[in-house]
Amino acid sequence: MPICVDKALEKIFTQAAPCAVTPIPLINASGFCLAENIIADRDLPPNDRSAMDGYAVRTADIQKAPISLTCIGEIAAGSASRLEVISGTCVQIFTGAPLPPGADAVIKVEDTSEIDDRVTFHTVPVAGANIRVQGEESKKGDIILMKGEILDAVQIGICASVGKEIVSVYGRPRVTILCTGKELREVSESVAPHQIRNSNGPSLRSSLSLAGYTGVTYLNVADNCDELTERVREAIGVCDVLILTGGVSAGKYDYVPEAVTQAGATVQYHGIAMKPGRPMLYATHTGTCHIFGLPGNPLSVLTCLHVFVIPALRRMSGIAIEHCTPRLRLPLAVPLRVKGGRTEFIIARIEYQSNGTQVCPLQSHGSADLAASVAADGVIMVPEGIEELAKGQMVDFITWRPV
Ligand code: AMP
Ligand code: MG
Repeated sequence: MPICVDKALEKIFTQAAPCAVTPIPLINASGFCLAENIIADRDLPPNDRSAMDGYAVRTADIQKAPISLTCIGEIAAGSASRLEVISGTCVQIFTGAPLPPGADAVIKVEDTSEIDDRVTFHTVPVAGANIRVQGEESKKGDIILMKGEILDAVQIGICASVGKEIVSVYGRPRVTILCTGKELREVSESVAPHQIRNSNGPSLRSSLSLAGYTGVTYLNVADNCDELTERVREAIGVCDVLILTGGVSAGKYDYVPEAVTQAGATVQYHGIAMKPGRPMLYATHTGTCHIFGLPGNPLSVLTCLHVFVIPALRRMSGIAIEHCTPRLRLPLAVPLRVKGGRTEFIIARIEYQSNGTQVCPLQSHGSADLAASVAADGVIMVPEGIEELAKGQMVDFITWRPV
């Protein structure tokens, strides 16, 4: 009996634990998941500072406009000035410069005019105007990033702003790909009529790289059980996730289930109530290596990759389970009919229109038809039991491109 998609995912999440925590330099930490809380090492901003180029003033001196004051000097960003604004004076100040004692507002340069050291103000400021107050973003000792957050550009910037040169992150799973099939030839090789080019290897490698798992290589293995067992055994020794393509159905030359078992792994399930991807296999080896046997057709490979393998990789990278399967919820551009009885994944394109975003299913000649998905951004997920969906109905969409 094939397992349902939700159960299949659940089983993966109960087995796939985050990788070991490791310290890495912040400059290399993009896309990693934080394994520690990040604490502000000082107030942010560290002192009261100007948000504008202009003049630091005492509001008590400017109760009406226009009015002129004597400028006693300037403070640029980065200067440790000792100037103080006393009654009847002002100080020229630039964005990011510390506010001098005595001043309680900054008037932007556009609202002033200057002749020699006399500055005329054409506006009446309120106290606090154009000042970024010490600690308004965060206070020394505050937790500013929580363990489990992904280090995107903003988070990297925050770490830098609090002096985190080295960050503790969850490691990334090491991935190996084995493409099975006697018919496969590499892109650089000539092909006879009975052969096909291996598109799954490059396609998987590219998808993984776009998802942040770079440098993954693949190997072709002929449909030979002993050889495949040996390759699986070798891979289990050096990787955390092994992806196999092809050879997982019920054909005479489909050796993946046997090879995986002979290599000492335990098959957790073989067969999922889904289309495409029904023959998919998931196995584990001593809880440390996770093995995904994906059916060989290119669209089955990509669907299973995005539905199961990338969520597993995200989990192993330390991401919270609820964030491992990001799905968009979008209205259908046209009605959709499926067979029902299993979860169906339909290649689709996102349409950005002035009255909103919607998702449009694409026609294909089945799961071998990679050309049909050139325009696809991902797949619509139609749950088991649903046969008809109306135009405008909301559907789950799994993107194949980083969003
Ligand atoms: P299989 O799952 O081995 O029965 O393969 C199903 C279909 O996918 C067959 O038509 C294979 O030739 C094709 N196929 C298998 N592996 C690849 C690959 N790496 N690249 C392109 N097509 C493949
Ligand atoms: Mg095959």
